[in-house]
Amino acid sequence: MGIKKMIDLHCHSHFSDGLLSPSALLDKALLLNVQILALTDHDSTDGLADLHAAAHQRPIKIINGIEISVRWKKHDIHVLGLNISPQSQTLMDLIAVQAQSRTHRAQQIGERLKDCGLENAYQKARLQAGHEHVGRPHFAQVLVEEGKAIDLQQAFRRFLVRGRPAYIETAWASLEYAVLSIIAAGGQAVIAHPLKYKFTRSKLRQLLTEFKATGGEGLEVVSGAMSALQAREMAELCSQFELLASSGSDYHGDGLSRVALGQQHALPLNCLPIWERWAGATSSKSPI
Ligand code: MN
Ligand code: MN
Ligand code: MN
Repeated sequence: MGIKKMIDLHCHSHFSDGLLSPSALLDKALLLNVQILALTDHDSTDGLADLHAAAHQRPIKIINGIEISVRWKKHDIHVLGLNISPQSQTLMDLIAVQAQSRTHRAQQIGERLKDCGLENAYQKARLQAGHEHVGRPHFAQVLVEEGKAIDLQQAFRRFLVRGRPAYIETAWASLEYAVLSIIAAGGQAVIAHPLKYKFTRSKLRQLLTEFKATGGEGLEVVSGAMSALQAREMAELCSQFELLASSGSDYHGDGLSRVALGQQHALPLNCLPIWERWAGATSSKSPI
């Protein structure tokens, strides 16, 4: 029997919507005995250099990652890029396009909120955002502070969700563009948290079929607070599609996430772990 390996291939720092800096995240990972850690900020690789610096000569393997937002058949899908080279020009171009789309959308939300009687919402939301790209949570905070809603939930319900006056869709990358950019950056594309989209099984199969045809290689079989039963179902799907299995907490910070770094369920035994492909990522063949 091998020793259970602590692996987390999905988490966020304050370079996207996580609470911790990369070095604070690293400290937490070491404390929890995580052996392989991938930082996967939303459409950003900005935290990777700090994470590598913090991990220097520490007993942990760092994998460069990213979580790319994708528009697929009118759904927002998240695709992880694991073991990528952040210096890839193709990937940097994609990141720039995504940032532009985010900014454009935020400006449009600001315009809509002006029509709802809130002046300079975009500028105010930018102040809220700090390190992060401006997004709906920041507008929600502004709406609460300006007395347009009693709490964040109400701000979303009244203004920011689909069908409400300040709802704007984001023009995210296509599935193909995201997958091909990850491949161009030398990485593996992985469908993140497959149950979070609340797809029917046939829709999920359709996604995996297209994903695989484009060059996608992995499925996040274990994600966050997913149950062991759900993980087994995803493992089944993963082997049917001959995909590699990934595992991540999707940790954003204490209080924001139910599962701490590396504390998600173990990968079911019938999976091929994606990290076994990475040289030096594991030193033994022990089951995870
Ligand atoms: Mn997030
Ligand atoms: Mn996600
Ligand atoms: Mn995530």
